Amino acid sequence: MSDDGPGLGRQMHELAARLYPIHRAITGEGVRQTFAELSKLVPLQVREVPTGTDVLDWQVPEEWSVQDAYIADAATGERIIDISDSNLHVVNCSVPVDAQMSWEELEPYLWTVPGFPERIPYRTGYFRDVWGFCLSEHQKDRLAAREAGYRVVIDSKFFAGSLSYGEVIIPGASDRTVMIYTHCCHPSLANDNLSGIVVATYLAMALQKQRLRHSYHIVMAPATIGAISWLSCNEELCSRIDYGLVLALVGDAGPFTYKRSRRETSAIDRIAGALVSSAGGSVRSFSPLGYDERQFCSPGFNLPMGCLMRTPPGEFDQYHTSADNLDYIHADSLEESLNLLRKIVERVESNVVPISLRQKGEPRLGEYGLYRAYGEAEHDAEFHLAVMWVLNQADGGSDLHSIADRAGLSFELICKATDLLRKHGLVGCTTD
Ligand code: ZN
Repeated sequence: MSDDGPGLGRQMHELAARLYPIHRAITGEGVRQTFAELSKLVPLQVREVPTGTDVLDWQVPEEWSVQDAYIADAATGERIIDISDSNLHVVNCSVPVDAQMSWEELEPYLWTVPGFPERIPYRTGYFRDVWGFCLSEHQKDRLAAREAGYRVVIDSKFFAGSLSYGEVIIPGASDRTVMIYTHCCHPSLANDNLSGIVVATYLAMALQKQRLRHSYHIVMAPATIGAISWLSCNEELCSRIDYGLVLALVGDAGPFTYKRSRRETSAIDRIAGALVSSAGGSVRSFSPLGYDERQFCSPGFNLPMGCLMRTPPGEFDQYHTSADNLDYIHADSLEESLNLLRKIVERVESNVVPISLRQKGEPRLGEYGLYRAYGEAEHDAEFHLAVMWVLNQADGGSDLHSIADRAGLSFELICKATDLLRKHGLVGCTTD
């Protein structure tokens, strides 16, 4: 059990439940309300990037807000589809509409989930001049072909404002940085956005209590344009990022999935890949589709950032529908994801680069009392092998994780051998 006590997963699920009703979009008050809630738990700094700011090849868009949206029976005024029942009902970033329509005119603007008649889809109209309503097939049947036609209203507006992203910065002994990134721009979807937000927040809470070798940047931003804005505003920081993870879809009951960075063999790829595999999960190669690893791994940045998920996007049928709700994510899964992330951090923190202080020939181990220091351990032979691997590989160019991989020995044993060699003055660490 972690030192945070029992019920941690339940607390995480409760945080997701508090954030669930908020109507988030790529800009606007929904993201700010989400950050205000998180600020009660962690020192989240909120940054605002003004509308019109050039960010890499993009421009920060206008803010969008929606006061009301509904489809009513034109004769009775009865609201049949109403945004107050679900914030998924309106296509996010719809332009304003106020019109009388026939069924034939309205129908092309309605979106459902084929094959799942109870579910409402999640759709966006970012960067396009569109509007629409999302509803279940059942709701569409009830709505269909009314004689008097429909009153269709989307009371939305676009205006010059800003894009908001949030950042928890936890300084460590050095400015070498670990970046944890998650998107926060979806309305009432639980696994897709809230699970990442919740796990990242609880990771920040845990890291604040630790002494850390690296500095940690835990960033929450709208997908795509938020990551691009962050990169544009923090380009000088990128050269200090030694490890990074995009977090998404970490609340469902599926096994873990780790998608490697564009580099495929960076230290985070080896560490997260090994820990995900040993937790029964799977590791896949980089591809330029998915979450914001697309931005962090674009060729001009090529950061060592992979993506940690459970079931990947598009591989579960609840994806981008109202069925990605609070029942689809589980307290146990959230806590398990947090624990895996903490293990990754623990390994990152101990993954130093050793350098032998006797580079030419093997040192005379007996002279340094090393054999006695092995003790009576059952696995003396294996421990001796670990010591010999560290001495041989400690040329200042290999971290402990890659030495463990090459030796076919556990990371823990290689750490233990390195500690012993450091204590006896035979090995230093270039990152000390
Ligand atoms: Zn999504």
